[in-house]
Amino acid sequence: MAGLSCAETLLHAGIQVSVFDKGRGPGGRMASRRMETPLGTTVFDFGAQYFTVRDTAFAEQVRHWEANGIVKPWPLARHDAYVGVPAMNEVLRDLAHGHNVAFSTLVKGVTRHGRQWRLVCDGHEQELYDGVVLALPAEQTAPILTLHDFELAKAALFARSQPCWTGMFVFDETLQHADGILRDTGDVAWASRNNAKPGRSGPESWVVQATPQWSANHLELAPETVGPLLLDALATAIGSPIPVPIAQSIHRWRYALSAGTGLGSLWNASMQIGACGDWLIGPRIECAWLSGRQLAERMVSAPSIAAE
Ligand SMILES: Cc1cc2nc3c(=O)[nH]c(=O)nc-3n(C[C@H](O)[C@H](O)[C@H](O)COP(=O)(O)OP(=O)(O)OC[C@H]3O[C@@H](n4cnc5c(N)ncnc54)[C@H](O)[C@@H]3O)c2cc1C
Repeated sequence: MAGLSCAETLLHAGIQVSVFDKGRGPGGRMASRRMETPLGTTVFDFGAQYFTVRDTAFAEQVRHWEANGIVKPWPLARHDAYVGVPAMNEVLRDLAHGHNVAFSTLVKGVTRHGRQWRLVCDGHEQELYDGVVLALPAEQTAPILTLHDFELAKAALFARSQPCWTGMFVFDETLQHADGILRDTGDVAWASRNNAKPGRSGPESWVVQATPQWSANHLELAPETVGPLLLDALATAIGSPIPVPIAQSIHRWRYALSAGTGLGSLWNASMQIGACGDWLIGPRIECAWLSGRQLAERMVSAPSIAAE
């Protein structure tokens, strides 16, 4: 979200942008995963479950998405909650449209060539760029930024995120829970009936997200071990036994929820390198969007990269 928000604002200012992401498609922590099951296809939101809106500029962006059928309100979760439709990552598909995005590209570092930058990544003949934006969680920003601007990197080095073990389960019968949403119950931080979210369908599908504490305590376990533990936690939270899932997938988010440094964005105008992301404001989608936009505005006002 932060990277595409930054790219979008730069593009509007007439600056050419290339985006690289190690993921196979748009998502990051707003990712969605398709699962084929004997009862049909289901698409899970396995990172962020919904987003809320406080800032007026973001509200305007959300109104645009809503008018185009890209997001819908989800009042059952929260009076002011929105979800991407038909899946959370639809919002990023929309933002990515019209951008030059290279997916499945892991960036290992950036190197300086005169006053320009080159990315270090496998299998790509890399061009030179005038500026570099790191739109990654703090823990992944720090090692890249440290080599070039230790003062800026300090902010990332001191920022810490909390992990989240997430289970995606498909059942062949409906679980006994009235509204299909559970919060902060035992080891479960969040669980919900994914197929009942606005604009979804498919078989009975539940997302289960463990608390940060539980996830930290079980961080290095194998997903095969964590799956049954998450099901037990769900059964305890619901208060009744649950059937064996007909399909499942388990995901470990090492850097799920950032603490939020309140810095907004980082930018070294003389070297033309900076960072944006939720961790510079707070652990929410809106914060990622705002951070990306704020950084782009700073970059545009820097003379050496501004459009001619
Ligand atoms: C389990 C969970 C639940 C959440 N629930 C909510 C919620 O209900 N509401 C809410 O508002 N927010 C929620 N959040 C937080 C929200 O998802 C984030 O605040 C937001 O998505 C962060 O966006 P970002 O662009 O800063 O970072 P990210 O989404 O993490 O984007 C970083 C991108 O960088 C890519 N990347 C990383 N390293 C490299 C590399 N070396 N090379 C190339 N690409 C790389 C990644 O693939 C990713 O696409 C949740 C997050 C998680 C994980």
